[in-house]
Amino acid sequence: MEAKKISDRLSVSGQLSLADVKQAAEAGFKSVIVNRPDGEGDDQPPFAEIAAEAKRHGMEARHVPVVPGKISSADVEAFDRAREELPAPVIGYCRTGTRTTTLWALSHAGSKSVPEILATGKAAGYDLSGTAARIANGGKPVTEAGAEPHQVVIVGGGAAGIAVAASMLARTKDLDIAIVDPADAHYYQPGWTLVGAGIFTPEQTRRQLDSLIPKGVKRIKAGVVAFDPDNNAVILEDARVLRYEWLVVAPGLKLDWAAVEGLSETLGKNGVTSNYRYDLASYTWQLVKEFKGGTALFTQPPMPIKCAGAPQKAMYLSCDTWRDNGVLKDATVEFLNAGPGLFGVADYVPPLMKYVERYGIDLSFGHNLIKIDGPAKTAWFRKAAKDGDGEVVERSFNMIHVVPPQTAPDFVRASSLSADSGWVSVDQSTLKHTKYENIFSLGDAMSAPNAKTAAAARKQAPVVAENLLADMGKLSGTQRAIYDGYGSCPLTVERGKIVLAEFAYGGKRVPSFPSWLINDRKPSRLAWFLKEKLLPPIYWQAMLKGREPLAKPKHEARPR
Ligand code: FAD
Repeated sequence: MEAKKISDRLSVSGQLSLADVKQAAEAGFKSVIVNRPDGEGDDQPPFAEIAAEAKRHGMEARHVPVVPGKISSADVEAFDRAREELPAPVIGYCRTGTRTTTLWALSHAGSKSVPEILATGKAAGYDLSGTAARIANGGKPVTEAGAEPHQVVIVGGGAAGIAVAASMLARTKDLDIAIVDPADAHYYQPGWTLVGAGIFTPEQTRRQLDSLIPKGVKRIKAGVVAFDPDNNAVILEDARVLRYEWLVVAPGLKLDWAAVEGLSETLGKNGVTSNYRYDLASYTWQLVKEFKGGTALFTQPPMPIKCAGAPQKAMYLSCDTWRDNGVLKDATVEFLNAGPGLFGVADYVPPLMKYVERYGIDLSFGHNLIKIDGPAKTAWFRKAAKDGDGEVVERSFNMIHVVPPQTAPDFVRASSLSADSGWVSVDQSTLKHTKYENIFSLGDAMSAPNAKTAAAARKQAPVVAENLLADMGKLSGTQRAIYDGYGSCPLTVERGKIVLAEFAYGGKRVPSFPSWLINDRKPSRLAWFLKEKLLPPIYWQAMLKGREPLAKPKHEARPR
């Protein structure tokens, strides 16, 4: 018997033998629910025998037989009643455990989110993708016609989603594409660092998403709650089933504010801020302007995060303001980073260290923010130890810039598209899904070990566009496009100067400019000009319109 725990009350198993019933009683189960109709297979004692054996060992038993693929609402109610009425813990079984898990899932539809239910099933080893639409429909069978199908469905209309749609259309207009995204607004997030330093207004980083959808692309304003890749479908939050021939997954990542105790309650007040939210970046600038000395903390969570340089960019620009207005000498500035070093690419550490020294910043590596009390102006960090987690240390602050832990979105992690890490599992060169031939992924949501940046998405979009269109038969040739892991991090070390880190897989430096123009290992005024004046129009006018500046993909021969 292999019982998989679904909840404190319920565990699930494949077919139990009479000996398994005894073992279940010894393991502490108080009841058994049988979801297999009698006589379904030769391996199966009839319910009466199971019930008699259960009774012999002090357990109760109930028969809620269901036929695979034909679970009625009455079945779900009967299962739910049994689960509630029988003494817990309960073990439920059918042939493999899938029907029992499905009954549990349907009985929780409406009270738990779809990703939460699918994630519970997945953790127990059951793929509930095929039932996702019904779960999204509150457990009731989905009878209405689904959403209109599309040749290409793109999940997410962020930097990556819009860019890849535009790149596909730049190669052929003969396409039927839909972008699914529930948001009203689209954000140029790289601008938030400059909002936090009073250089951009928040409004400069925001546009209506509808205004950016490429001409000819259908916008579906809804959130995706689940993937059903075996049926070429995604499930929308209103339980509509949206079918596709080709799927591109680009929903970005989840900022997990709730993972730090007390953080959500105090964000935006008590001196607690973050450039990682549109509405808070201007609060960073307010705090920096009003800072009169004291302790300023800057945190960085475990990798991977989007724009790994952004936590320290906020710090350097704040310090630069305080140096200008004479406050820096009265400030204690500390960078508390869960990771082991200042920056992941060693070549860029020396120029950054010069600024750390210039601003007198204390570096505390292996310090992971776990709790914050805004009104008490106190934060707690778990220190890394050689053999795992170490002691918890406390810091007081006058202001704190927090970067939250980051994960793949829940509905991605709960799906069969994700790798063990939770990110969409892709081949890191072609960006094609490792299992499903008609699925690609790009941007922050996918598993390749590149730096999660808009600059990376700019290079990935043409790669996905070419490889997908070639697979579709709309591009000829024997070559396939290759993504080399390019990512870029313009490190704003002071107002007017940037260390322009550009690197590919393995931390290999890949500067776009000759060193006489921009030396990537030195702070550069031209790089600042690029960030402030050129990159925003390049983003809005080129990348999101399929013009692909500095983004021509490399190619290699297709394997035969
Ligand atoms: P996003 O742009 O985040 O878009 C994701 C989209 O998916 C959103 O529109 C969202 O509404 C949608 N979505 C989410 N859930 C669902 C769902 N269930 N169904 C359908 N749609 C969904 N990058 C740089 O290159 N340079 C920088 O200097 C830089 N600085 C940064 C500074 C900060 C403070 C931050 C926060 C980011 C920075 N970045 C930078 C990173 C960059 O912004 C991201 O890497 C980039 O936006 C990723 O694009 P994406 O399309 O994958 O995700």
